[in-house]
Amino acid sequence: GFKCGIVGLPNVGKSTLFNALTRTAAAQAANYPFCTIEPNTGEVAVPDPRMQAIANIAGSKELIPTRISFVDIAGLVRGASKGEGLGNQFLANIREVDAIVHVLRCFEDDDITHVEGRIDPVADAETVETELMLSDLESLERRVIQTRKRAGAKDKESLAVLPVMEQALALLQDGKPVRIMLKDIALDDLKILQGLNLLTSKPVLYVCNVAEAEASTGNEHTKAVADMATSQGARSVIISAAIEAEVAQLPDEEAKEFLDEMGLEEAGLDRLIRAGYELLDLITYFTAGPKETRAWTVEKGAKAPQAAGVIHTDFERGFIRAQTIAYNDYVTLGGEVGAKEAGKARDEGKEYVVQDGDVLLFKFNV
Ligand code: GDP
Repeated sequence: GFKCGIVGLPNVGKSTLFNALTRTAAAQAANYPFCTIEPNTGEVAVPDPRMQAIANIAGSKELIPTRISFVDIAGLVRGASKGEGLGNQFLANIREVDAIVHVLRCFEDDDITHVEGRIDPVADAETVETELMLSDLESLERRVIQTRKRAGAKDKESLAVLPVMEQALALLQDGKPVRIMLKDIALDDLKILQGLNLLTSKPVLYVCNVAEAEASTGNEHTKAVADMATSQGARSVIISAAIEAEVAQLPDEEAKEFLDEMGLEEAGLDRLIRAGYELLDLITYFTAGPKETRAWTVEKGAKAPQAAGVIHTDFERGFIRAQTIAYNDYVTLGGEVGAKEAGKARDEGKEYVVQDGDVLLFKFNV
């Protein structure tokens, strides 16, 4: 599955947020199971209102959402890249996630110690980022030397990889995260970059943890974070971990009332999960029938057989075609029958690139 790693300095609210996420998931009905893979990893359902709309039309008995994992990665301190504290373990844990959720303390509270003795989320972000950049720089410098040699000897793979490596190295030497390259990168280069598995090339979502009273408005700190995120091509969300921790313990009805009182339209966790999902560059397709409506996840750009493979490897191997109905056609035309009558149920083959929201029915050989 796809994983988002929750990082940040100590005492910024990572665990509070992680516990709220997992408690919400645990409290959900049986068809939204939460499972603990490891003590610090939780799988959560991705909220998607389209699922209910499809299920209503298809008359499905059950709704099965798609899921992503969150990992609470504690242990970052200044000097982590030099092995301080749990530095090496921390960096190894980040290497294993697909995207980073970076929690920043934007709340004032004299009772909660800040490791740097002041509230400055942009500076905090830089502290964390510096450790990640130093780690990337060290590992990349070594590899570039090797790759230059092999490229000089006309090694094909090295020749292909080297320009991407050099570009990443130049950014790091300039004190910038490799993520900046993602803004406009060709698909081939993206694959190469992902293969390098650098820490600062992973997409980042900044989470501004604010006081309860500022959850709907933000504050000057969250504005500064938003500007920083924009300059990096990243995104930020405002959340009050304290509110989320409370909401996560309430039954649905009460949770809604509580959110209304706070001037919030929906739980911050739902926003966070969706933002995490978008960060991973994933899309959702659906299968629908009387038994269940189910959401499935594929990477953007996936072709129909690959999408079938998410359900079962046999579906991919024996793929013949996929009956495809765009989400909007499905709901406006009243489902499969209506879409067929309107000529909106397409038969797509092996080369079809699945679109977000597609309702698919696979035909395959066993
Ligand atoms: P971590 O070290 O980043 O995992 O931080 P924790 O989640 O353990 O939080 C550190 C402390 O800050 C705990 O005592 C939390 O109760 C408190 N805390 C977390 N979020 C908030 C918040 O939004 N407002 C306030 N006032 N305290 C918070």
